[in-house]
Amino acid sequence: MGKIQLKSVRKAFGDVEVIPPLDLTINDGEFVVFVGPSGCGKSTLLRLIAGLEDVTSGEISINDTPVTALPPAKRGLAMVFQSYALYPHMSVKKNIAFPMKMAGLPVEEQEKRIEAAAKALNLTDYLDRKPGQLSGGQRQRVAIGRAIVREPTAFLFDEPLSNLDAALRVNMRLEISELHQKLATTMIYVTHDQVEAMTMADKIVVLHAGRIEQVGSPLELYRKPQNRFVAGFIGSPKMNFIEGAEAAKHGAHAIGIRPEHIAISATEGAWKGTVGVSEHLGSDTFLHVATEFGTINVRAGGEVNLHHGDTVYLTPDLEQLHRFDAEGRALA
Ligand code: ADP
Ligand code: MG
Repeated sequence: MGKIQLKSVRKAFGDVEVIPPLDLTINDGEFVVFVGPSGCGKSTLLRLIAGLEDVTSGEISINDTPVTALPPAKRGLAMVFQSYALYPHMSVKKNIAFPMKMAGLPVEEQEKRIEAAAKALNLTDYLDRKPGQLSGGQRQRVAIGRAIVREPTAFLFDEPLSNLDAALRVNMRLEISELHQKLATTMIYVTHDQVEAMTMADKIVVLHAGRIEQVGSPLELYRKPQNRFVAGFIGSPKMNFIEGAEAAKHGAHAIGIRPEHIAISATEGAWKGTVGVSEHLGSDTFLHVATEFGTINVRAGGEVNLHHGDTVYLTPDLEQLHRFDAEGRALA
C-alpha cells in the first residue's frame, strides 16, 4: 500500500511562503508527476513528503497514518535524486546492498533482493564493477536499485534524468515506466519537462508558484486545460494564444489553438499570414506564420512546399479551440 495524502500543507522559508496551503491525494500504485517551471516548489513539496523538510503547517499521512512528525527514515519512502550519490570505492553490489546493511537485514535476504533488483534494472552483469566504470544511465540505475531493495511504500524521484543526454533520457524514461509496471509501487516523479510528465504519468500535478494549477491524466490536461497556464505549459510545441477582437468573436478574452489543430492552405482560409521560420523535423514541419494577431505556429506535414515569405491562410479547427476569460480561466 502506498497512499499519500497532503492536507492543507503549507511551507514557508522565513517570511517567504513557497507553498500556500495545498491538498493532494496520491493513490496506491499511481505514477504521479509533479511538473512546473524551475522554482515553482516541486522539490520542496517532494522533500516535505520525504520528511527532509518540516511542514510549516498542515498534515501528511501515508496509508492513513499521520507521518508529519516522523523523520525521513521512519516514513518508508525511498528517494532518488539527480546526482546519484554512489560510493565510488564500493562495487555496484555493495552500493545496492548499503541501505540493507545499515538496516541489519540478514545477508541471505540481502542477496535475494540484490538479485531481483539487478534483474529488474539489467545490472546483473555489472554487479562487481565500480561506479566509475559505468555509464551515466547505468549509474542512475544503480541509484534506483539502491532504492528498490528497501522495498519502500513509495519511490520519490527528483529530476533523476536531468544529468543524462537526450537519447539516454528517453531510454531511462521507458525503463522507469516499465519498472513501475513491474513493481506497481507508488511513484512520485518531479520534472520541469512536460514531455517526461506526459509520457510517464498516470496523474500529472501541474505546479506554478507553489500552487496546484491542475491535476489530471496527461490527456485530460491536453484536452481540457483549466486555465491558460496549463494550456501553455502542456503540449509541445506550445499552444498559440490570440487576444483582442479575434478572441472576442468567440466570446472570450483570449483564445488558444494548438499548432496541430490549424489547417494551412496556400489559397484560402480564415486567417491570412506570411511564412517566416520553418522547422523541418522530417515527420512534421512547424511553420511560424506572421499574422495580424502575431506569430502563429502551425504543424504541417513532413514535406510541405511552402517557403519563407509565402502568403498562406490558416484555419483553426473550431472543435479544438480553447477559450479563456480575462483571469485566464478556461471557459466551458
Ligand atoms: P523547484 O524544485 O520547482 O525548482 P524548489 O522547491 O527548489 O523549486 O524551490 C521553490 C522555492 O523555494 C524557490 O523560490 C526557492 O528559492 C525556495 N527555496 C527552496 N529551498 C529553500 C531554502 N532552504 N531556503 C529558502 N528558500 C528556499
Ligand atoms: Mg527542484
